[in-house]
Amino acid sequence: GDEQLSDGNLMASTNPARPDEVIGRVPVADAELTERAIRQAEEAFESWRVAPAQERAAVLFRAADLIRERIFELSAWMILEVGKNWAEAYGDAAEAVDFCNFYGSQALRLAAPQPLTPHASEELELRYIPLGVGAIIPPWNFPFAIPAGLVAAAVVTGNTVVFKPASDAPVIGYKLFEILRQAGLPAGVCNFLPGSGSVVGRALVSHTRVRFVVFTGSREVGLEIAEQAGRSQSGQIWIKRTILEMGGKNATIVDRDADLDAAAQGVAAAAFGYQGQKCSACSRAIVDEAVYEEFLDKLIAASQEIRVGPPDEYDNWMGPMINSSALDKALQYIQIGKQEGRLVLGGSALKGDGFFLQPTIFADVSPQARLAQDEIFAPVLAVIKARDVDLALGLAKGTDYGLTGAVYCRDPGKLEQAKQEFHVGNLYLNRKCTGALVGCHPFGGFNMSGTDSKTGGRDYLLLFTQAKSIARNVSA
Ligand code: NAP
Ligand code: MG
Repeated sequence: GDEQLSDGNLMASTNPARPDEVIGRVPVADAELTERAIRQAEEAFESWRVAPAQERAAVLFRAADLIRERIFELSAWMILEVGKNWAEAYGDAAEAVDFCNFYGSQALRLAAPQPLTPHASEELELRYIPLGVGAIIPPWNFPFAIPAGLVAAAVVTGNTVVFKPASDAPVIGYKLFEILRQAGLPAGVCNFLPGSGSVVGRALVSHTRVRFVVFTGSREVGLEIAEQAGRSQSGQIWIKRTILEMGGKNATIVDRDADLDAAAQGVAAAAFGYQGQKCSACSRAIVDEAVYEEFLDKLIAASQEIRVGPPDEYDNWMGPMINSSALDKALQYIQIGKQEGRLVLGGSALKGDGFFLQPTIFADVSPQARLAQDEIFAPVLAVIKARDVDLALGLAKGTDYGLTGAVYCRDPGKLEQAKQEFHVGNLYLNRKCTGALVGCHPFGGFNMSGTDSKTGGRDYLLLFTQAKSIARNVSA
């Protein structure tokens, strides 16, 4: 609602480049506050669900303007709270602008009369109505754009929400909440509820009066949510809807006739951008044996150019890992990698306090190795050799995931084959596999990458609605 509450229990959000630097102190909610937040959202739903679509969309259009006005400030918060470089932070805020404008205009389209087959003597109508109260559970890696998109889609279609920010990015989450309120979102439509996933997140997911859960994050948590939300509680009168977007183990295929310079640049950017901490990041390069050594040399050269350090310094292209456990996990995989492949670049943390890791490349990794199968979520790339493009496509598909993929190749026949065979939600030909744009590249993956909800696509808002079909007998 419009109350600000804290029981004095605060968590400090710190700068991963300088862990002693506190970016903000944020209250930690418990089960009781979760209950209150859900009640607020339920109350607000009664009026918000019938607010005209134009009014709801106008809030998003104003929010987009406010984000644009504050884009450098918001970028600065992201550089300091989650270690993005300047361009990545700006891109994150810019994506939020796009989400607000895109979902605002799509909501207007859904509110317009919908085409139906005429039926004699009846006046027909189909209305997309909201679901109810939703739980919004985003990750920390796009700490502004992802929650902005999830909350925007939910509220513009008339739902009300409880938004639990990721614990590594609660301050930037609060900035989003502040902007939505400033843009005119009524109190109680979005309730900001920082707290841990295991307490607040679980309480939201299993709550009887939560109608839907929108989650983006790891496979492990996504599957737990699918299970918890699927179990109906006593007194529950609906099947909860879940929209779950999870991890990836994305591959870039480099064919023998590819532009190897472009491929090396694209793989380095997609593997090491934001320290490899993107669901879309390239973590496997599958390279045709005919150009394997030549490509590897170019990739190493391109990656050696990367400067690692505190990203508030403009020339540092790679910043820190999000926290110490993310760095430890990456270092453990590097130890595994030393048995599974040939370390050709990096492999060490930087000295000092921040959680910095060098861009790391392992060559000659077997397709079944852990390094080639597990999402590491770090700047650790596995390079795999393939005999030809058929084998490369087979290897590319050989994981549990199916989020993004790229193919560098000049042969139109092979590109066509990739369009048919490469089973990913977002396929990129002769370009890198990161950097999806709202409206241009609707985003979401197959298999263990999630429910393929396609954020930033025309169908996305339908997931937040239910359709009511109305027929009036006009002869009565
Ligand atoms: P995560 O650990 O799964 O956390 C995501 C969110 O879930 C956080 O808000 C977290 O809260 C909460 N949570 C944790 N345990 C929970 C539980 N038991 N019940 C309910 N909520 C719970 O993921 P992350 O480390 O933040 O993000 C990285 C992952 O996100 C990677 O796997 C990446 O591939 C994926 N990702 C996917 C996409 C996509 O579009 N497919 C986009 C971005 C990221 P706390 O922060 O308090 O733990
Ligand atoms: Mg932090």
